[in-house]
Amino acid sequence: MDFNVSGLTYDELQGEIHYDTRKKMINRCMMNLAYEIIIFLIISTLFYLGRNEDCYLSINSFCKTSLIVKGGIVIPLVLMIMILLSYNYLNTDQVEMIASLITIPSSGWFCYVASLYFSKENTCKTDAKHLFYLHSILALEAIWFFCKLFLIVILLSGILLSMLIRNYLNCRRSNRQKKTVKEKIFGRKSLDVSFSKINPDEFCIICMEVYKPQDQMIRLPCTQKHFFHSKCIGDWISVTPKCPLCNIDIDASMSVSNES
Ligand SMILES: [Zn+2]
Ligand SMILES: [Zn+2]
Repeated sequence: MDFNVSGLTYDELQGEIHYDTRKKMINRCMMNLAYEIIIFLIISTLFYLGRNEDCYLSINSFCKTSLIVKGGIVIPLVLMIMILLSYNYLNTDQVEMIASLITIPSSGWFCYVASLYFSKENTCKTDAKHLFYLHSILALEAIWFFCKLFLIVILLSGILLSMLIRNYLNCRRSNRQKKTVKEKIFGRKSLDVSFSKINPDEFCIICMEVYKPQDQMIRLPCTQKHFFHSKCIGDWISVTPKCPLCNIDIDASMSVSNES
């Protein structure tokens, strides 16, 4: 912009400066909005895909709150500020004051993330750690809204988001694997164990209860012929697809017993 100071009165000059600041603020609002919308879309996609995943419970509550904070508060607030600036309804000082309102949901979000991260119920520490760092950075938006930290914020959140997505994909892959193992075991007649063929004092190592005639038992394909309650071993495989007694990978031993 060409500043011909001598040709302008004091008021006109003030107006020019305000116009310039306003334009800069509108640009930052636009960048902020684009960034918020991208994060919103990524988190909602993760939330949608992860809604049925066992190991994703803590992430879901993270995502839910994040979506409420972003979609319900931050995005409309930034949009409102942008409109106010574009139509020159308010001067930059007033807009700056409104913009500082973003600090409130952001700080609240930061406290929530911190409390969840340190709570004992949080079962997905590894995943949650990335989300925690990610949202600690997102909470910084209150500070960077009018500073030039934009690229750093984008870069850091990009790295953390990719870590989060990778963790999610690993989690999903291991869930799929556990599901396949269960399907293979429960679909095989040869692995059923009849009560008449076992010792009367034998008990299930998972629930520590003695087998009763009406119980459903299933044998794992490990060479030692380890067997358990069907329900007990089903729950066990949901945690780890290995034999509780000999620690052999069930899927691998299944392929071996198929060959022999
Ligand atoms: Zn049992
Ligand atoms: Zn075994």
